[in-house]
Amino acid sequence: MSADPKLRVERLQAWFGDRHVLRDVSLEVPASSVMAVIGPSGCGKSTFLRCLNRMHELVPGARSDGGVFLDGEDLYRRGVDPVLLRRRVGMVFQRPNPFPTMSIRDNVAAGLKLNGFRGTLDEIVERCLRQAALWDEVKDRLKAPATSLSGGQQQRLCIARALAVEPEVLLMDEPASALDPVATAKIEELMHELKERYTIVIVTHNMQQAARVSDYTAFFYMGELVETGATERIFTNPGEQRTEDYVTGKF
Ligand code: ADP
Ligand code: MG
Repeated sequence: MSADPKLRVERLQAWFGDRHVLRDVSLEVPASSVMAVIGPSGCGKSTFLRCLNRMHELVPGARSDGGVFLDGEDLYRRGVDPVLLRRRVGMVFQRPNPFPTMSIRDNVAAGLKLNGFRGTLDEIVERCLRQAALWDEVKDRLKAPATSLSGGQQQRLCIARALAVEPEVLLMDEPASALDPVATAKIEELMHELKERYTIVIVTHNMQQAARVSDYTAFFYMGELVETGATERIFTNPGEQRTEDYVTGKF
C-alpha cells in the first residue's frame, strides 16, 4: 500500500466492559480508495468503524487502545476535539436517519451552523445533493419533509448531509443493506464517484458488493483482522484458509 496512507490504524484494541472485541488490528487505507470491511456478524466490523472517528468511546463502559492516524495525525492524542474530528471523518449508518421533522434542504444544512464553510447555504446544499446524486430528484421540492423521500433517497440525503461539513473520510456501516436492489445499485454507483474526493471505509456483509465497490478488503473474524489486501487478491487468491472459507460462502 502507499507510503502515506490517509488512514493508518495501529494495534487497535477495543472493549465493551470486560469484553475484548477488537484485538490488535493494524491496517492502512490509501487516500481516494474504498476499503470494504467484511466478516461474520459480531466479528467487530461496526466497532472498528466507530473507533475510526471515536464514536466507540460514546458507548458507556467502552474503551479502546492503540492508534488511529489521519494523514499521520494521532486522532486519540490529547487536544483533539472529537466533535470536530467527526466532521473530518463522517459516518453513514445502516438505517437512513434523516432528521424527520426537517425539510430536505435543512437536513443537508443541519451540520453547518458553525461558520467557515465555503459558499452560501443554498450553494452548499446544491453541491452536496449533486454529489450524492440526489439533486435532480429533489431540486423542485427542497422544502418538502425528508420523510417524503423513499428509503434510498433518504440514504443519499444522509450522504449529502455527511458531505456538507467537508469530511476527508466517509465511514459507511452497511449503507445499503436496508435498501432495495435499485436503490442499492445507486449507492454503489455513487461510491465510485465519491472516492475521487474522499477516502471511504464501508462495512458490508454482501460479498458481491465488496467485490464491486472496493479497492481493498479487510476480513475480520472474532475481533481479529485475519487478512487485508487488494480486493481482487482477497477474493481470488486469499492467503488464509478462514478468508477463503468466508469469501466462498462456507460460513
Ligand atoms: P459486527 O458489526 O461485525 O456485527 P459489532 O462491532 O457490532 O460486530 O460487535 C462486536 C462484538 O461486540 C459483538 O460480540 C457484540 O455482541 C459486541 N457489542 C456490540 N455492541 C455492544 C454494546 N453496545 N455493548 C456490549 N457489547 C457490544
Ligand atoms: Mg455491524
